[in-house]
Amino acid sequence: MRPLSKIAASLKPSATMAVNATVKQMRAAGEEVFSFGGGEPDWPTPDNICQAGIQAIQEGFTKYTPASGTTELRSAIAERLRADYGLDYESGQIIVTSGGKHAIYVALCCLLDQGDEVILPAPYWVSYHEAVRMAGGTPVVVYAPEEQGFKLTANQLEAAVTPRTKLFLLNNPGNPTGAVYTREELEALAAVCKKFDLYVLSDEMYGKLVYDDAELVSFPSLSQDAYSRTVLINGVSKAYAMTGWRIGYAAAPKPIAAAMDGYLSQSTGAPPSISQAAALEAFSGPQDVVERMRRGYDERRKYLVERLNSMEGVSCSVPKGAFYLLIDVRPQLGRTLGGRKIENDTDFTQALLEAEHVAVTPGVAFDAPGYVRWCYASSMEEIVEGLNRLERFIR
Ligand code: GLU
Repeated sequence: MRPLSKIAASLKPSATMAVNATVKQMRAAGEEVFSFGGGEPDWPTPDNICQAGIQAIQEGFTKYTPASGTTELRSAIAERLRADYGLDYESGQIIVTSGGKHAIYVALCCLLDQGDEVILPAPYWVSYHEAVRMAGGTPVVVYAPEEQGFKLTANQLEAAVTPRTKLFLLNNPGNPTGAVYTREELEALAAVCKKFDLYVLSDEMYGKLVYDDAELVSFPSLSQDAYSRTVLINGVSKAYAMTGWRIGYAAAPKPIAAAMDGYLSQSTGAPPSISQAAALEAFSGPQDVVERMRRGYDERRKYLVERLNSMEGVSCSVPKGAFYLLIDVRPQLGRTLGGRKIENDTDFTQALLEAEHVAVTPGVAFDAPGYVRWCYASSMEEIVEGLNRLERFIR
């Protein structure tokens, strides 16, 4: 047999999806697992949204739609962006996709040629690196350490630019770090993008989930220049607890939106019609549920940070957004825990799962070796028990 494509042969499968799959497998086998691995809201999808999906089926709204989504949904998204961030998009600039991940991939396919460089701040969400490679680009990873709040500085961005750099990939609020950039920090980054004429892909999937004094400043809202070079990514998965419905979107300047529309027409055809009907209700229906869920995450976040920082041998910075935090487990390296010698964060994760049935994601998957990611989109009871088990494990 002839070989598979080079990219298929070298592709790293998603570590977050792998943790999810392991947890589901263990549970199916009757084992109790406390999962803080894959990022998925524990709340059910709000009832009004589910009803809109059911109604779509009952009314026969079960056929193809235009490739980039229905005009109604695209208009509702444009309206939401105007109301939430003062952004001015026409419905034709909104491209609805099968999840945010797909919007990222298709945008990268439309912007990159073979060998174009993409500056990717680390720690980064697992799928960015491989999505860039799948689209033919070359990820250029620049590490933003914990001491600078896991945020890339404008100087670091500028130092990483080469004649091949085409795009800067920003995730704000950040997964797995929970970092949220201030307006000033974003303006400094935007100035570098302008200076070197870079496209920006700004993934703001967790934009509704910010805490304390943090505010989400949407990158394209910074200036006309930022708007003209940015593809904004968002969706319903996190804000409306709709991960399984698979609806994401991109908001982009017209030529990019048109290119993405062409890509979708030749690949997925369209996102599911039923999910689009539900997403329409999510964006245009009552929004108070989003705030209720945010407050729930905030409560868990505070508890988690306090408990973790009171434990001997682990620590974490205070996340300002999303529903993740990185735990520094470097003091645990070299120890033997749960009968296993802990050489790295992957060993730590596996030993914790085996010994205590607590699932977290190894930091190495996010290019953050020495850390593990804890997702706090779980009930308070589960978090309390998970922390008790973690404490026992490292003791
Ligand atoms: N985005 C979530 C995470 O980081 C869900 C899984 C995935 O798509 O990676 O865990």
